[in-house]
Amino acid sequence: MKKKRHTLSYLLTPDYIFDTFANVTPEFLNKLGIKALLIDIDNTLAPYEQPEPDKRIQEWFAALEANGIRAALISNNHPPRVELFNRTLGLPAYPDSGKPGSKTILEAMKVMGSSPENTAGLGDQLLTDTLAVHRLDMISIIVPPIKDKTTLFFRFKRWLEKPYIRNYWKTHGGQSTHSEKGSL
Ligand SMILES: [Mg+2]
Repeated sequence: MKKKRHTLSYLLTPDYIFDTFANVTPEFLNKLGIKALLIDIDNTLAPYEQPEPDKRIQEWFAALEANGIRAALISNNHPPRVELFNRTLGLPAYPDSGKPGSKTILEAMKVMGSSPENTAGLGDQLLTDTLAVHRLDMISIIVPPIKDKTTLFFRFKRWLEKPYIRNYWKTHGGQSTHSEKGSL
């Protein structure tokens, strides 16, 4: 695979933005040749205060599985949160994953038998989720945070993300088939 130049712009600009995880369909992933998906939990699948997956989340994972797409949970949250969320899903799950570090991502791919060429990351934060997978030249799919924290630190992080979201829409402008402009 051709190595990408790791400019800040490449590292932090997602490849795809969707309105919600549920719109990231097996058909879409198949078209990209994606066989495995590394998924963030908080604000990507569910808000912080939702301890377990609801029916929509369960059905989405079932559709991935039915189409031969492997999935793993990669979260920077602590083990009790991740273990309870994963109780009914039974996926390979990695709490305290250390994103934007890539160590856990490499470990998860080994377990899933996938490689950077056929694995994508799905999350809600460019500074952790996009950066972690772009360091390995993998595809980054982003959704707007379901329910963002309103602390000053989080607002600052969102402010830092803004130029890269604009960057995305600059290159995807006019063909926003995946998401409505303005949702992120
Ligand atoms: Mg998150």
